[in-house]
Amino acid sequence: MSVADTHCHLDLYPDHETVIEETERAGVDTIAVTNAPSVFRACVSLTRGCRFVHPAVGLHPELASERYGELRLLPDLLAETRFVGEVGLDFRTRDEGERTLQRKAFREILDRCADYGDKILTVHSRRSAEEVIDMIGPKYPGSVILHWFSGTHSALRRAASYGFYFSINPAMLASGSGRRTASAVPPERLLVETDGPFVAVGGRPARPRDVQHVVEGLAGLLRVDVADLARRLRNNYEEVVRRRGAISVPE
Ligand code: MN
Repeated sequence: MSVADTHCHLDLYPDHETVIEETERAGVDTIAVTNAPSVFRACVSLTRGCRFVHPAVGLHPELASERYGELRLLPDLLAETRFVGEVGLDFRTRDEGERTLQRKAFREILDRCADYGDKILTVHSRRSAEEVIDMIGPKYPGSVILHWFSGTHSALRRAASYGFYFSINPAMLASGSGRRTASAVPPERLLVETDGPFVAVGGRPARPRDVQHVVEGLAGLLRVDVADLARRLRNNYEEVVRRRGAISVPE
């Protein structure tokens, strides 16, 4: 079994049909995140019949104010998938009104997902790690994957103690701070992603099968055997999918 790509924008490749076919052929479980509720069903159509590609319903924080009204679609769409993303906060904006809408949108998404208890969320937290972790909290009923995490080590440790996972991508492995983050994640909380087509591998947009490059780079960084790490990542992903109900946190 191949290692999973837990965050990829499959609907945003110009040649998405080829990429989806290739992903299915390679057997790479892929969480196909989307950026707004109104495009979720188009992603479902693209991936109809797929065994490995899992469409996720999302509202990217940078679109939260523009697409806020689309949250009305959320209850229906959440009934169609366990996968949720891209969601979260992005505090690159200094506009307080926009930050407030991002918080409102994320709160609503978290609450709707909590009603199910078995959702798998891939979460963005640029310049907002502490607040994202606070909003989700230690007893969230669902699986949380912090994608491209760039918060402090103390925030990372807190998120790990809450049972959250961290997905490492090729861009992180190419930067000092990303490598420090990747090294600090407890092995049982590690996942990998491509964040394609926004992240490049070898001068072209990363595709799900490129998770293998991440596995190799990460194995080098952590000084562990590639096959052992791949097994670990596969097990971690299966644990995420198996998990139902509340994350159990030792008191
Ligand atoms: Mn993304």
